[in-house]
Amino acid sequence: MLFIENFTPELIVESPGRINLIGEHTDYNLGYVLPTAIEKRITFKFRKNNSSTQCNLYSLGYNVGFKLDLNTISRSEVEWENYLLGVLNELLKRTDKLRGFDCIIESKLPIGSGLSSSAALECGLAFGLNKLFDLGISNMDIVQLSQTAEHTYVGTQCGIMDQFASVMSQKGHVLLLDCKTLKHTQIPISIAPYKMIMLNTKVSHNLASSEYNTRKKECEDGVRIFQKKYPEVMSLRDATLSMLEASATEMSKTIYNRCLFIISENERVLATAKALQENNLELFGKLLYEAHQGISELYEVSCPESDFMVDFSKQYDSVLGARQVGGGFGGCVLHIVHEDDVDHYITEVTKAYKSRFNIALDAFEVRPSSGTYISFEE
Ligand code: ADP
Ligand code: MG
Repeated sequence: MLFIENFTPELIVESPGRINLIGEHTDYNLGYVLPTAIEKRITFKFRKNNSSTQCNLYSLGYNVGFKLDLNTISRSEVEWENYLLGVLNELLKRTDKLRGFDCIIESKLPIGSGLSSSAALECGLAFGLNKLFDLGISNMDIVQLSQTAEHTYVGTQCGIMDQFASVMSQKGHVLLLDCKTLKHTQIPISIAPYKMIMLNTKVSHNLASSEYNTRKKECEDGVRIFQKKYPEVMSLRDATLSMLEASATEMSKTIYNRCLFIISENERVLATAKALQENNLELFGKLLYEAHQGISELYEVSCPESDFMVDFSKQYDSVLGARQVGGGFGGCVLHIVHEDDVDHYITEVTKAYKSRFNIALDAFEVRPSSGTYISFEE
């Protein structure tokens, strides 16, 4: 596609991935999460192209692009285009100021690895076009319209966390987000002498076609059972462990386990936020291990590769805790590792993982970073 040659951008936007320290699958149950943006990100280069409705988009990583007309936006057969088309569809509902543009997308974010490249893709486009055409859309609306885009065009019934973290994070902080009220607190985080190390299992998942929507439905089934005794329970966020015990006989073992995980995971998020504020890193690590056990045994969204990594880490005093992050079935595993042992630990786990699965894992450090930002403006 010719437009990417000699491309001179008017605007460059950086759209980060995110990690969630704890609070998995709690967002769509309107509970708590504790995410932050990371330095790995997608870069969007934009320019207006003097056309009223013709747009060109190109993903350098995929080496493929597509054209579209703003007058005839509809879902595509090509999966990745839908993240962007869905955002354009939402923007067009809010404004008539959008015009033709060209956009090049360059990503340093592993795809389908639990770092939410999908939210980075949606929010980066929305944020950039908002700026380029001065649309006057708030950051909160960018978060919400991006989530809606993923529901309607991609078909993943995701919660609000990924988009929220990608846009709203602040450097050096984690976001304690209440997904029911959208109230959020920026918590300063400093875990020295430990570091947050992500180990990518290199086993990928496809949320749209996998178990994600099934889990969401199972949670909704759980809510309906709670409501027989407790009509005030509108989502699993409102349920407690004692309500669960009182409703247990009405539930299948599977629904019981899903509910137990979500209710305890919400408690773990609040406990982790407190532990970080009190600099209780031992407790932070312990909560991560507990979360992973729930992810694996109760919510059943782990996989042998992630379980292996988490179990392996338990032999090392230099690792405080570990858990699989993201929707599940692989992706990255977060480890809290003492800075003096990072290199040694990565060498050991790489060797063990290779010999068990014949896969060369990727390791990288993550630091709490800023949400979507402009890095160049003409
Ligand atoms: P995650 O959000 O955890 O990375 P998802 O399955 O939710 O995983 O989203 C990944 C999808 O997002 C990819 O399959 C692709 O459709 C789209 N995507 C992400 N990054 C890019 C990119 N740089 N170029 C094109 N599409 C991308
Ligand atoms: Mg995603």
